[in-house]
Amino acid sequence: MAAPRVRFAPSPTGFFHVGSGRTALYNWLFARRHGGVFILRIEDTDTERNREEWVEGIVEAMAWLGMEPDEGPYRQSARAERYRAAIDALWDSGYLYACDCTREAVQARTPEHATPGYDGFCRERGLSREGNALRFLTPDVGDTQVHDVVRGAVTFRNETMEDFVVARSNGEPLFVLANIVDDRDMRITHVIRGEELLPSAPKAILIWRALDEVAKTDAAWRAANDLPVWAHLPTLVNEQRKKLSKRRDPVAVESYRDQGYLPEALRNYLALLGWSPPGGEEKVPLEVLIENFALEEVNHSPAFFDVKKLTHMNGEYLRELSVGEFVERVRPWVDPATERAAGRWVPGTAAPPPWPPECFDAGVFLRLAPLVQERVAVLGDAPGLVDFVFLSDPPFDETSWAKAIGGDAGAVALIEDAIGAFEHTEWSASALRDATSAIGERAGRKLAKAQAPIRVAVTGRTVGPPLFESLEVLGRDEVLRRLRRALECARAT
Ligand code: GLU
Repeated sequence: MAAPRVRFAPSPTGFFHVGSGRTALYNWLFARRHGGVFILRIEDTDTERNREEWVEGIVEAMAWLGMEPDEGPYRQSARAERYRAAIDALWDSGYLYACDCTREAVQARTPEHATPGYDGFCRERGLSREGNALRFLTPDVGDTQVHDVVRGAVTFRNETMEDFVVARSNGEPLFVLANIVDDRDMRITHVIRGEELLPSAPKAILIWRALDEVAKTDAAWRAANDLPVWAHLPTLVNEQRKKLSKRRDPVAVESYRDQGYLPEALRNYLALLGWSPPGGEEKVPLEVLIENFALEEVNHSPAFFDVKKLTHMNGEYLRELSVGEFVERVRPWVDPATERAAGRWVPGTAAPPPWPPECFDAGVFLRLAPLVQERVAVLGDAPGLVDFVFLSDPPFDETSWAKAIGGDAGAVALIEDAIGAFEHTEWSASALRDATSAIGERAGRKLAKAQAPIRVAVTGRTVGPPLFESLEVLGRDEVLRRLRRALECARAT
């Protein structure tokens, strides 16, 4: 195959959606696989719905996911001239006609049960261009076929295709026109995008062929006889098999980044939404994805965007990091103040850690890091696992207290024994474990049962990183202080 040219062409109307992430990724993988060119094109002709911050969001999310474009970002807003020229040429060649019908008027003329859409009312009226919308005169007979790599040949009967609008009454081009003019000008060979855009493909083909006709006599237009290859990717659905919705489902790539998903994990997971790497492996290195990605293997049935599976995969990626890398990457969540001061990125929508920034101690965190790395599903879980170390008092968790201290008749005696033993024992995790074990034996308890009140007294919760390593890091004085304080409270109740 000659080097393909593909484009990702988002409209900047909201947060960067995971579905857009999947579309961008498939384009990018395809380009990388075949030594092609990956283009980013911002389709920002809808001035009412576009916002600059969404454009930045797109560019940042793509950089974060490691899919920087080879060309672009191009912006449709900078190419208005070119669309106007296309509209002029199509008008002059008789492909367009002017229409002044309001939506209401069209509706009023449409009998019930009739196919909705425009009825061709203005076709023969010969209205002038000025101040009117322009419609493309679609053929009444025959078919338009979309040859789609994912869905095979999809046939549209021309009689069911309405004369669609290509320019508004103020002259602004509509999506389908700008989109296809760009695909021609940018020599796009493969259009890889979401399946909701399939209905616009036959319209694009009609415009494409019309411009090929125009090109025969007008040097401003290059004949581009080969249509692009189409690939409409399956819809992403949620657990209820409903199309992912911005309102209902967590779909913003930004929010996954802020929660502490690793870009390599999200990218790997997105790759599976419609395609399977060879051998059915799910966790696959990027090189393997690139080497094997095949558009013709993309599945057409809806793909389930399974947050649980993504989270699981993220955990696996986290576990694979070296401790040094983990510490590096978790920093924006555990020490955002320092990161921000150094001008580095911090998760904008994540809650800050619950301790005062000056109480964070990087050396102490480093000692806890291997324990934390084993237990987090996302980087944003880290502060909740180490907060008891950096807060001056353990956090209070009512359920934990009630379970392990308030509701345990033997807890007071156990804590007393622990204080007695911990005053003298050697201060290492293993010695602390042995001491607790011995206390438990005297009370007729297994280690897990014996350590529960100690854990809640010192860390505030029944669950957390391994206890004895945590005690070692906290130090004797602080552990004793917390045990004594818990004892006072327990006796008071
Ligand atoms: N701008 C269109 C959208 O965001 C995509 C156009 C395309 O990929 O052809 O829905």
